[in-house]
Order: sequence, then C-alpha cells, then structure tokens
Amino acid sequence: MRLDEDLRLRILEKAGIYAARFGISEPKVVLTTREVLDLPREITEGRRTSAYKYLGVSYLMHNLVFINVKKIPDDKTLENTIVHELIHLRFPYLSHGKRFNRLVRRGLAGKTFKPYQKRK
Ligand SMILES: [Zn+2]
Repeated sequence: MRLDEDLRLRILEKAGIYAARFGISEPKVVLTTREVLDLPREITEGRRTSAYKYLGVSYLMHNLVFINVKKIPDDKTLENTIVHELIHLRFPYLSHGKRFNRLVRRGLAGKTFKPYQKRK
C-alpha cells in the first residue's frame, strides 16, 4: 500500500483501538523501514536491516511495532498485521501456532482481553 498521511492516521487510530481492547498501552508504531533504521540500534537489535522482509515486526521490550505498509497489499492484510503484532505485545510468552492464530482471529472479531499480569 502507498503510505500517505491519511493512511498513517488510519493505522495509528486502529492501533489505538486494538490496544485498548487488548488491555495494553498504546505502542509506538513505525511504518517505514527508514523509521526502523532511524531508531536506536539497541531497540531494533536483531530485526533491523531484516525488518523489510516482514509484514510486521514487534519489538516487545520496547512496546514498539513496525507495520511494513509498503509490503502490505490491501486493507484486510493491514488489519491482520496490526492485530497480529498487537497480540504479540499482549501475549509476549506465546509464539506462533494454533493458539496464537486463534487469539488473532478473536482479536479481529472484536474481542477484548484483560490486561496482561505477570504471575506472582
Ligand atoms: Zn508474529
């Protein structure tokens, strides 16, 4: 998709809405590989120059998400990618798999989640 101001605002708005539903604080969202490269190396370490390969990347320790707009073909994929990355933030202990995919589907369907709490 072509990134313009309108699309940028739409994405930030969606990220805000889903973050509220998922009980997480609103992440910082970057939308171009240029913005990823402009971030301090210690934040993007491990997925910096490789970020362009993915539709999205979440940097869990920094509450930061990269949505690779240039690589995203359409609105449906965009919505999926936003929800996918925010599910990573909400369920940091989960890796990809059936359970993860189910949570993404529920998220897309409008489900809300209680805030993540570490066990004492
Ligand atoms: Zn993922």
